[in-house]
Amino acid sequence: MAEMSAVDELTKLFNRRYFVEALEGEYERAIRYGTEMALIMMDLDYFKVINDTYGHLAGDMVLSKIGNLLNTHVRRNDLACRYGGEEFAVILPSVSKESTYAAYDRFREKVFAQPFEYESKQFSITVSIGIAYSNSAESINDLLAHADQALYQAKEENRNKIVTYIADSKSCD
Ligand code: GH3
Ligand code: MG
Ligand code: MG
Repeated sequence: MAEMSAVDELTKLFNRRYFVEALEGEYERAIRYGTEMALIMMDLDYFKVINDTYGHLAGDMVLSKIGNLLNTHVRRNDLACRYGGEEFAVILPSVSKESTYAAYDRFREKVFAQPFEYESKQFSITVSIGIAYSNSAESINDLLAHADQALYQAKEENRNKIVTYIADSKSCD
C-alpha cells in the first residue's frame, strides 16, 4: 500500500510519481485554455554538509521542516512535491509572474530565517530556486529543462538565490 501513496513520508509533500502525473495534466490544461502555469524547482544548498557535520538524522529533520514550511507556504491550488533527495518542485496552475517571483523570494527568505537545532547545535540552511513558465516551453520536458537551467544558474550565482528562466536570453532574475 505504501507504494500507492501520493505523499512522501518524511516531508509530507507529494512524491515524484504524483508530481509527474500532475505536471502532465496541468501543462496540457494551461496550453488548452491559454493560461500560464509556473514550475518551480528548488534544491537545498550544501545539504551534504549538514549530513556530514550533524548526521543523517539531522538532515532528515531539516527535510521534514522544509517540507512543512513549503506546505504552509503554497496556495490552495498549488502542488508542492519532493522531487528527489533534497530537491523540491512546485506546480502553480495559474500565475502572475510578479507575484510568483515575490512569493518564492519570500519562501527563500523564510528558509534562511528558519533556525535549526540538533543535539544543542544551532545551524541554518539556504535554498536555491529556479522558476519557468509554460508559455516559453514547447513541451513538458522543455519546461522541466528550463526550471532546471534557472536553478543551475541560481547555484552558479552563489546560491541562496532565485532565478527566472527567460527564453532566448538564457535567464536572468
Ligand atoms: P548543492 O548546494 O550543490 O546542492 O550541494 P549539496 O550538498 O546540497 O548537494 P549534493 O547533491 O552534493 O548532496 C545532496 C545530499 O543529500 C547527498 C545525500 O546523501 C543527501 N540526501 C538525499 N536524500 C536524503 C534524505 O532523505 N535524508 C538525508 N539526511 N540526506 C539525504
Ligand atoms: Mg540536489
Ligand atoms: Mg543541494
